[in-house]
Amino acid sequence: MTDRPVILIIDDDPANIEICCAALDDEYEVCFALSASQAVDLAHEVRPDLILLDVVMPEMDGYELCRRMKADNVLADIPVIFATGLGDDEAELRGLAAGAIDFVMKPIRPASLRQRVANHVRMKRMRDSLADQALTDALTGLGNRRMLERRLQSELRRLAREEGTLAVILIDIDHFKRFNDTHGHPEGDRCLREVGQAIGACMKRGADFAARHGGEEFACILPDADQAGAAHMAEQIRKRVEGLGIAHGASDVAGHVTISVGVAWGISEPGLDAEYWLTAADRMLYRSKGAGRNRVSFEEVLSSARAATGSQADQRRAAH
Ligand code: GH3
Ligand code: MG
Ligand code: MG
Repeated sequence: MTDRPVILIIDDDPANIEICCAALDDEYEVCFALSASQAVDLAHEVRPDLILLDVVMPEMDGYELCRRMKADNVLADIPVIFATGLGDDEAELRGLAAGAIDFVMKPIRPASLRQRVANHVRMKRMRDSLADQALTDALTGLGNRRMLERRLQSELRRLAREEGTLAVILIDIDHFKRFNDTHGHPEGDRCLREVGQAIGACMKRGADFAARHGGEEFACILPDADQAGAAHMAEQIRKRVEGLGIAHGASDVAGHVTISVGVAWGISEPGLDAEYWLTAADRMLYRSKGAGRNRVSFEEVLSSARAATGSQADQRRAAH
């Protein structure tokens, strides 16, 4: 893999593609599509940093294709530059109204194309980096609460369609206020960073995700985890943090930093929203706190939801 920006050229005329390619391919990864339908699939696959789009194409013109891409969540933020031989104001206005960021005129002048592409790619990369920062916790490098909420919402949408399983894990450092009071706030920050990294290192599968939920609380979501896997993972996280052996001079649990963990696991059903899952995991976290800390508590979300449905069905049966 290379870190060169990726440019997607969409044009039904191979000769035009060749000209643009020649102007760009020493600085960029260039790929191309000869039709609108090919272009959408390819754009999803390669996620380009910029799209260079021909206006006049047979099956769907550039304006319509641009509108569709701007309405597509995955593609909406990719800047589109129109390339057109229709040198009139109306063509320019239609392109900008469809969501294009800029225009180049055909015949293409390579130096001008290179400069425009460079400007827009630089801005796109800047926007991407700001967007990443807005979703990252600066201290631990994990996702932040906003990112957690987004990931949870999108996993819930996907899992509800597939009736997949989900585990939501909430983690809270034990007696962390005392840790700060005893060892000082900078040590507290160091501890948070190490604990966060230890939790992050436990996420082995691509879809597993760990975030700093706030303060000294962390959260993980494990899509498609089975029950034993979710329980095992929570225990692994607890052990791994304990294994860091960070001295805690004021905990009544142990001489080192420990965590309490709550797990909500079950089949994702459309009625169970993000708040439901987080509340269930939080309930289990507080059970762990109440039971002496440094432990995992586990709730099977499915069983309580089913139990409720079962009892309603029983009531209905009894009423007839
Ligand atoms: P418990 O075992 O019941 O969870 O007790 P606790 O002391 O960990 O919980 P409490 O909610 O009373 O205190 C949380 C502490 O976490 C207080 C707060 O100062 C500290 N904290 C939150 N965010 C940060 C941070 O970014 N850095 C540092 N050093 N401390 C933080
Ligand atoms: Mg707390
Ligand atoms: Mg705590």
